[in-house]
Amino acid sequence: MNREITLVGAGLVGALAATLLAQRGFAVSVFERRQDPRIHGFLGGRSINLALAERGWHGLRVAGLQDRIGQLAVMMRGRMVHHLDGHTELLRYGRDDSQVIWSVSRGALNMALLDAAEAAGARIHFGQRLAGMDWKGSALQFLDDAGTPRSHAAPVVIGADGAGSALRAAMTAATALGERFEPLEHGYKELEIPKLSDIPAATLPPALSRQQERGDLFAMEPNALHIWPRGNYMCIALPNAEGSFTVTLFLPNAGNPGFANVRTGADARALFARDFADALPLIPDLERDFDANPTGILGTLYLDRWHLHGRALLIGDAAHAIVPFHGQGMNCGFEDAVELAELLHNAANDTAAAFAEFQRRRKPNADAIAAMALENYVEMRDSVADASFLLMRALERQLAARKPGRFVPRYWMVTFSRLPYSVAFRRGEIQSAILRELSAGKTALDQVDLAHADRLIDERLAPLPN
Ligand SMILES: Cc1cc2nc3c(=O)[nH]c(=O)nc-3n(C[C@H](O)[C@H](O)[C@H](O)COP(=O)(O)OP(=O)(O)OC[C@H]3O[C@@H](n4cnc5c(N)ncnc54)[C@H](O)[C@@H]3O)c2cc1C
Repeated sequence: MNREITLVGAGLVGALAATLLAQRGFAVSVFERRQDPRIHGFLGGRSINLALAERGWHGLRVAGLQDRIGQLAVMMRGRMVHHLDGHTELLRYGRDDSQVIWSVSRGALNMALLDAAEAAGARIHFGQRLAGMDWKGSALQFLDDAGTPRSHAAPVVIGADGAGSALRAAMTAATALGERFEPLEHGYKELEIPKLSDIPAATLPPALSRQQERGDLFAMEPNALHIWPRGNYMCIALPNAEGSFTVTLFLPNAGNPGFANVRTGADARALFARDFADALPLIPDLERDFDANPTGILGTLYLDRWHLHGRALLIGDAAHAIVPFHGQGMNCGFEDAVELAELLHNAANDTAAAFAEFQRRRKPNADAIAAMALENYVEMRDSVADASFLLMRALERQLAARKPGRFVPRYWMVTFSRLPYSVAFRRGEIQSAILRELSAGKTALDQVDLAHADRLIDERLAPLPN
């Protein structure tokens, strides 16, 4: 087994994979297109965050980073739904505070992972963009920012270079990977709610002015994922530890409203005044941020093949980019990193077999979370404000309490457990059918026949392993 491994991409997944492989004794070289964010800053200083759930925590635990990241993470108990009339309600994610998700800064997380990779012995080369691969000579070709070429011999290379992977393009030139990208007809724009003390007092409603005078840090409830569901579009906001929130506006590309007609900061202000009125006074730089920040593209990447014999393998978004509506892209990529490190560590001499086994284990799970993430968009932007949806969610919680270990809400299986995504998906379909059957024609929980519910669950759902 070749103990030398080259990784392309030191983003979240690449840096974790580098850490885990170096900790297992591999000689790891990593090539990253960007400059070192610990010296040059991350993403121009914008604070972007992500939701970290159990699968992601597991990867960090295995790498020994749980405590360091724990200090940076903000707990989110549930969705704080902001209705059009301005009232808010918290829909808890789990049973109690043992079932929550966490907001972490993408930059801080990436930097902690880079530190960990280097501490474990990985060598990271920044400012090196993969430009091509000479498969015959087993040499990767990189260009630095000045366009200076560099060649690196790499008998085994792992591509963690994200959705637009250059290694994937180089692999495709050698063998068809069966690549298919399905764009979502919606995009996104990131905005910011600053910490309360940084919001001009004159724009604040009176209650918030008083909180500002009192010295409160956050302009909204910090321990929640805020969401403004508006049918075909929505806004969300996740807290940052220093008191700000990263706001993401999701809109269709075409249609009304859509990015085709919400084009300028002034258009965005008008949209917020109409649809997200309670958020508007909290976003003082709305116009500037809307005009300056790029409009992000979303979609799902499917490949039939993730590896080229024992020589190259894709992981994370490079293999299976998904839409962000389950908050699982990074969490899923961290599972990839853990699985790959274990497989390579245990593979006696056969990288090709380890790569094939990696795809056999991970691909059904990547396909399952891709499908669930797409479904979750409809749930977030639309159903959370819908009465029959809320009845089904209430029933789901009741059944979870009646039949623990047998009826477990799909969101819980995805978010709070490490059950394979494919199992969560399959059981979720069965559970949905049960919920639809039990709640058909009902308007309140006490109308549901619980004895019938017990029978359906016992018949259709085997107990889960502990
Ligand atoms: C709006 C949005 C919100 C999201 N929210 C969440 C969330 O809440 N929870 C969650 O789990 N996931 C979330 N995700 C998904 C998550 O961001 C990705 O799944 C995750 O970043 C994938 O990590 P990665 O390392 O595979 O790829 P990336 O993070 O894209 O990293 C790729 C790295 O490779 C480098 N690179 C690229 N090309 C080259 C090249 N040619 N040569 C060398 N280096 C290169 C890049 O500079 C980068 O550092 C979200 C995604 C989006 C778009």
